[in-house]
Amino acid sequence: MTEQTLHTSSYQSQQQIAAMQEQKLQQLLVYLNQNSPFYKELFAANNIDVEVIKTLDDLRLIPTTVKEDLQKRNDDFMCVSRDKIIEYSSTSGTLGSPVVVALTENDLQRLTYNEYSSFICADGKPDDVYQLMLTLDRQFMAGLAYYSGIRKIGAGIIRLGPGVPSLQWDTILRLKPTAIVAVPSFIYKLIQYANEHNIDINSSSVKKAVCIGENIRNTDFSLNILGKKITDAWNIQLYSTYASTEMQTAFTECGQGKGGHHQPELLIVELLDEHNQPVAPGEPGEVTITTLGVEGMPLLRYKTGDICQYFDEPCACGRTTLRLSSVIGRKKQMIKFKGTTLYPPSLFDLLNGMEEILDFVAEVYSNEIGMDEVLLHILPVNYTDECDRKIRANLQARLRVSPHVTYVQYDEIQKMQYKESGRKPFKFIDRRL
Ligand SMILES: [Zn+2]
Repeated sequence: MTEQTLHTSSYQSQQQIAAMQEQKLQQLLVYLNQNSPFYKELFAANNIDVEVIKTLDDLRLIPTTVKEDLQKRNDDFMCVSRDKIIEYSSTSGTLGSPVVVALTENDLQRLTYNEYSSFICADGKPDDVYQLMLTLDRQFMAGLAYYSGIRKIGAGIIRLGPGVPSLQWDTILRLKPTAIVAVPSFIYKLIQYANEHNIDINSSSVKKAVCIGENIRNTDFSLNILGKKITDAWNIQLYSTYASTEMQTAFTECGQGKGGHHQPELLIVELLDEHNQPVAPGEPGEVTITTLGVEGMPLLRYKTGDICQYFDEPCACGRTTLRLSSVIGRKKQMIKFKGTTLYPPSLFDLLNGMEEILDFVAEVYSNEIGMDEVLLHILPVNYTDECDRKIRANLQARLRVSPHVTYVQYDEIQKMQYKESGRKPFKFIDRRL
């Protein structure tokens, strides 16, 4: 398939898209049945004749795959011999042990195409220059993907790595990037640094930001508190992107900011409820994916653990593809706290919005009767009794329950956030696992 036809699939009718996906699905099933030890066994154990699965509806006859399968039987998912593998990427292991995702040369080209198409969706042009404020090593697939996708557009790239606001600003002022790729809470740190050092951010060269790893929107697509804090201070366009190592594919927003666009030639996506039944548009469901065109480690009905909503009306940008909301939460990170259900992103949004709080880490643990408890480690702007009272009152009002609160120093919060691999700051510690 040529790049031109790949690209236009985002603008086709839903029937045309389904027909294209069904053809690719049939190829995938034959391929898995020949080459994947894990899926061969799964088909045999469930009496599945791959020749019978023809349509997207038929796909539901196949059991789902979960992260634990990948963790326990990582090698059995590999469909090629070792000499075909070029790149050994790995999941971060934030939730359980890391999984190696191996890519062939074709998979790397697919990954490049995926991110090329994503950055074009996010209004990327050949005359853009992107400053990458993220890890490019440590087996991190996304860094590699952004680099190769932007390169394919023909835009410029500055690989600066994560953190160090002073260096980021020196480089922005010197090399004049038009765009940045960064974690939104770090963009906010950049703004604070600029304000403290008399840098006029709105006269800088940066006009857009591709936001990774954290939400900038509520599920109705309005900007959340973090997104608002950024755009109130800095006149830039934000584009959210959602991806995972396992799916080797991104959902990236267009300029309309109405959810991340699905790339139907690269992925079949289903949103499932607890009983593995599809949810309706606008309902929360677990993102479940089937990779298309992956050679090294293809996945079939893989449950990502991410809870999102989807929308399927055509977008004002002209694309007809399904759009995903920001991640409401990780299924595993759901907190059942004193009778309420809470996901870390909404807790983060609340904490980000409180001006008394400079930074935080949220910790969840099980109490002696096995119920979830929440302990917030908070770095206050300026610790006073008044500040403490405001924080507690605000938490109580918004959550309707009172989490435990402890105040910490700058050094302690840094230590908690940047332990282990240090790809991104840890804001959530789950001691229940
Ligand atoms: Zn759009």
